[in-house]
Amino acid sequence: TASLAELDPEVAAAMAGELGRQRDTLEMIASENFVPRAILQAQGSVLTNKYAEGYPGRRYYGGCEHVDVVEDLARNRAKELFGAEFANVQPHAGAQANAAVLMALIAPGDKIMGLDLAHGGHLTHGMKLNFSGKLYEVESYGVSKEDHRIDMDEVRKQALHARPQVLIAGWSAYPRHQDFAAFRSIADEVGALLWVDMAHFAGLVAAGVHPSPVPHADVVSSTVHKTLGGPRSGIVLAKKEWAKKLNSAVFPGQQGGPLMHAVAAKAVAFKIAGTPEFRERQERTLRGASILAERLTGADVAEQGISVLTGGTDVHLALVDLRNSRLDGQQAEDLLHEVGITVNRNAVPFDPRPPMVTSGLRIGTAALATRGFGDTEFTEVADIIATALVTGEATDALRGRVTALARNFPLYDGLEDWGLL
Ligand code: PLP
Repeated sequence: TASLAELDPEVAAAMAGELGRQRDTLEMIASENFVPRAILQAQGSVLTNKYAEGYPGRRYYGGCEHVDVVEDLARNRAKELFGAEFANVQPHAGAQANAAVLMALIAPGDKIMGLDLAHGGHLTHGMKLNFSGKLYEVESYGVSKEDHRIDMDEVRKQALHARPQVLIAGWSAYPRHQDFAAFRSIADEVGALLWVDMAHFAGLVAAGVHPSPVPHADVVSSTVHKTLGGPRSGIVLAKKEWAKKLNSAVFPGQQGGPLMHAVAAKAVAFKIAGTPEFRERQERTLRGASILAERLTGADVAEQGISVLTGGTDVHLALVDLRNSRLDGQQAEDLLHEVGITVNRNAVPFDPRPPMVTSGLRIGTAALATRGFGDTEFTEVADIIATALVTGEATDALRGRVTALARNFPLYDGLEDWGLL
């Protein structure tokens, strides 16, 4: 019955430090978000004790009557939220969901074709050190050199030549909508299956402020913790005909027992994602990213050789292009860190700098929208970022402006009394 602080003060102190960091800084890593109290409660619950290999009604362990209810709620809510015929809510994370997708759809040695990691794709879409690059033959498409957008005519030509078994849409760093109908028609033309990994934009899709891949794709995978704002985990959605193969690929194909506390938290996240408040938050997220992209294409920024890839954004992030800037990605990330804004450096397509340095920043607005930011605050934070990048200096004045924003939007107020620490 000892509390965490009593039993393990070292871990407790690090956790308290992290809470302080989240409260005092502005989180703009595009893949992060803040989960609400209810989700922290579900994840920090006794459901972590339960083994439940199998699926509701067909478990390999006794005592699953309550966790069956939880998993059914999560599956049904996921299906309803995204208009999907089938959902598997057991993947521990996005990478596990993706491993299960490929295991269900094709055999080792078959060919996959996704967006190049260096152009914004994900590790699991064919990077050579990842399982996807080791088990499957990989053909990658890129963005065009001129406008940094995916040219669907080029994708079609490449697919006709490469003849992949699976065509992959979805991304980790791409600021525009993808044309899912065009991907579908290319997949049909070359006899490929279409898999869309909507990890980044799932929250936007759930809110109806981004085109949905679900009607077009054979299979859609996602994380739950990015724009969707739920627990760190993954899901797979699909047409009914894939149900058996996908279930078997997740368990026993890739995983043993599901994390039932995470499954419960997913159920809660899908409930929240169906509300008008969630939609309003996603709208603020999108407006924030547009405000940011617009400020980072201003004259003072351009004068320093800094711009935004594609000149703007359709989604929750902007990609800053530092190829012509005196700052590289590492320096720019460190500079913003000093100001109190957390972002990640990110290679831009055709990046001349090495991957650990890069010539880009990926800046997202989902976490700050969850914190309550609207147009006024996003205008202020965009100006802080632009000023820091233009001057190259982390001044006390900029730090003060960050602190004022953080103070005005308290995070996890009262958490110390929730019994979680
Ligand atoms: N797919 C995409 C498109 C992603 O951006 C990510 C996360 O970075 C993942 C999958 C993997 O998710 P996880 O980190 O939960 O394994």
